[in-house]
Amino acid sequence: MKQIDILIIGAGISGAVLAERYASIGKKVLIIEKRNHIAGNCYDYIDKNGILVSKYGAHLFHTNEELVWKYVNIFSQWYPWEHKVIAHVDNKMVPVPVNITTVNRLFGSNITTEDEMKGWLNENRTPIENPKNGEEAVLNKIGPILYDKMFKHYTKKQWDKFPIELDASVLERIPVRTNYDDRYFSDTYQALPKGGYTQLFENILKHHNIDILLETDYFDVKDQYSGYEKLFYTGPVDRFFEFKHSLTEKLEYRSINFVSETVDAPFFQENSVVNYPGMEVDFTRIIEYKHFGNQISDKTTIVREFTVDEGEPYYPVPNPRNEMIYSQYKTEADKLLDVHFVGRLANYKYFNMDQAFKNALDLFSELETEITQKTAV
Ligand code: UDP
Repeated sequence: MKQIDILIIGAGISGAVLAERYASIGKKVLIIEKRNHIAGNCYDYIDKNGILVSKYGAHLFHTNEELVWKYVNIFSQWYPWEHKVIAHVDNKMVPVPVNITTVNRLFGSNITTEDEMKGWLNENRTPIENPKNGEEAVLNKIGPILYDKMFKHYTKKQWDKFPIELDASVLERIPVRTNYDDRYFSDTYQALPKGGYTQLFENILKHHNIDILLETDYFDVKDQYSGYEKLFYTGPVDRFFEFKHSLTEKLEYRSINFVSETVDAPFFQENSVVNYPGMEVDFTRIIEYKHFGNQISDKTTIVREFTVDEGEPYYPVPNPRNEMIYSQYKTEADKLLDVHFVGRLANYKYFNMDQAFKNALDLFSELETEITQKTAV
């Protein structure tokens, strides 16, 4: 058997970055990946309509981290893309995050300045110091009317929980704007990889020191591997420990059922993403991939997203109950000095893509500095 210095479970962002970093210092790396492709949930491909689509939902890259931005630029060219989201509310199409246009369209008001918008928010919001959950976070920012129209039911559909049952941080991902800015994110760098995410990952992993074993469940083959220096595990943390702390109380994840449809028309909707925060439909949003990068095709592909309990875990569910169960796994994980738990599922954290890149890069620096220091002593 080939020598392996570093064993990595999962070929998503965390796994790919660590593989590349270790390969670059001469380590022999093996990645074991359960799926039949690399790139984790960033995986994209050209579909039957000739459109680049993401298999696991739209991935919009945005970051303020210079280090991450420099790193991803080594492996792909990127084109600027400022993501926008429209929501279908009261039969109107309004911008998300809430801005001046959102309020004017929904309430027929005529706000034109930041001061007027701040005044509107002050009249409508329910000030709450240190919001303890998602409901308080939204009420504090925009008040009960917009909470009901745009957040309460969307969240129920997305998480099968009302915002009151989730950490404030989940809802705090969405800001409120007092101007006309209709961008979903406000980070310095907002871009998409020119050849798609799969190509980006191919380039990250293109190294003679990296081998990848696809369609292999690590837990089926783990006895065949030993003698490596380090193991990086990027899968669900509870799976690693055979769900031992979940016998009575299961660590929750949300999965998404993506229902794709070809529409025989140039376009289906006015924007790449349209959210449906109301109860009139049971999906959360419709993605029309053709908008990303202004792709050309006779037809268009749309994907409705239905969030579900069962299926591949995509989202951890941040709330005190899950945090408590996770902390039991974390205690076990911390004891395993040569196994590193990295990424969204292994850390049970709702990371954005750039945070996943950053954590993997930081972990590598941390571990390698340790080694350099030890060798120097
Ligand atoms: N959210 C909502 N209405 C919206 C958009 C978002 O209630 O129109 C809430 C919902 O709980 C969601 C959270 O805000 O899970 C974070 O939204 P984000 O767009 O960051 O979710 P992601 O794109 O990661 O699924």
